[in-house]
Amino acid sequence: MVRWGGRDELSLRRLAFASLVRLPRRHLALERSLRDGTLKERWPSVMLTELVSCYGAQDAGDVGTSLEVLTLDESHAEANCSPSGRASRFVGTEALAASGHVSARLQGQVVVPNEGSDRLPHGRPLLSASQLESYLECPYKWFSLRRLGLQESDAGFTSMEMGTFAHRVLEVTHRSLLEEARQRLLASRGLDPLCELPLTERMGASRVREGDDAALRHAQQILLDEFELHLRHQFLSRGRRARSQALVAHDATDEGQIEALRQDLLSTLEYESGLFVGFEPRLFEWGFGRDGELVDYAGCYLQGTVDRVDVDAHGQAVVIDYKHRSPGSFVGEYGVFDKGGPNEGEPFALPRRVQSLIYAQVVRRRYPDLRIAGAVYLGSKGAHALAGAVAANLADRVFGSRAPAASALASMCVPEDLSFGQDGRRGLSALLDATEDAIAEKVRELMAGRIEADPVDDAACQYCPVMNCDKRRSS
Ligand code: SF4
Repeated sequence: MVRWGGRDELSLRRLAFASLVRLPRRHLALERSLRDGTLKERWPSVMLTELVSCYGAQDAGDVGTSLEVLTLDESHAEANCSPSGRASRFVGTEALAASGHVSARLQGQVVVPNEGSDRLPHGRPLLSASQLESYLECPYKWFSLRRLGLQESDAGFTSMEMGTFAHRVLEVTHRSLLEEARQRLLASRGLDPLCELPLTERMGASRVREGDDAALRHAQQILLDEFELHLRHQFLSRGRRARSQALVAHDATDEGQIEALRQDLLSTLEYESGLFVGFEPRLFEWGFGRDGELVDYAGCYLQGTVDRVDVDAHGQAVVIDYKHRSPGSFVGEYGVFDKGGPNEGEPFALPRRVQSLIYAQVVRRRYPDLRIAGAVYLGSKGAHALAGAVAANLADRVFGSRAPAASALASMCVPEDLSFGQDGRRGLSALLDATEDAIAEKVRELMAGRIEADPVDDAACQYCPVMNCDKRRSS
């Protein structure tokens, strides 16, 4: 309990409330909002509860017989809010335009230069992979979230804050393991500690192998240390991104979730020890498209951060995107084909999730000596899972001892001889090209100012901030 000058906070609030109650001469109106602007339930009001209990009532809806209660329902909201108690006179109506309809005159204003710039570079938008995915989900959702910025400004305690936190802790853990292994190797060869090594150089201790308990315990200790350090930094964060995604526990439930997150990340290390056989982590939180660098993708310029890239001795690479979600909530969604697997000759359809495919294409262009073996999502929550697109001939190494059920595997494996498009391109790299071509079409629509509400499925509407959308498909 916080104490100020000998009084606890609740006593001070009671005093302040008692002073307010003494002010009115004839009427006292008290209001308690049940939901906030985003329809989330609000906490009960202690003052209101205590006040009504003075009248012998159990709660604010039951005030006994000693207090006259007037109940106003929401269906007459306008009259209820009017000082006269009457609704205003009906004069006329104007039909609302469909969600996302923009007049031709204003369509050019849909895509504007990013903050700090007065024009689009070479007339192209500067986007991120998650923005592209958001536009593919529903153009108006993209507009509302990314162009209008309709997001909550308060520090929350959602999967977004948890995910940001998990990314940082996993990054530092793997980076530390790599640096330890690198220094050992350089020392053993008598080389300068700052010496760069090729991505394909083998440094066994830079990853935890399945069954190596000592290595696992060591990695977990690094993770625990970073977890504590990063938790303390949440209160000190000052940067824009850090402030808006700080993970700060507000109550015992939040503290319980932080503990669950700690256990999830520890078990992530154990889970991934069974994956990526022969691969070792090499790139972490690899940023691109910043500080004036223009990364060309699908007719726009792209910026972003690739969570991790693991490389084997032959220059094959798995591009990894962390998702702090439990398996049941993402495996079905993150494959690239239906459960029956691909059908040769069917027209190409964009997978529901494209972020890791976009990142893999960027990595492929930046590191032409690497061959992409997988573009995957690694679930860091609960029982963990790996999903995404994997070259079929390398699936046994990518999934290692964590192979999913046959139908899930079929939705993720890209056969080497599977063709995408008319030009006979085949395999995983052809899938990356076909994805980029299909996204380029959408980028052209975006540039033309097309932002009508058009959800790709019911799930697109979940967590969408547009509450009055006439196309909403789920709450
Ligand atoms: S509610 Fe659904 S349809 Fe409407 S803007 Fe959001 S995602 Fe699109």
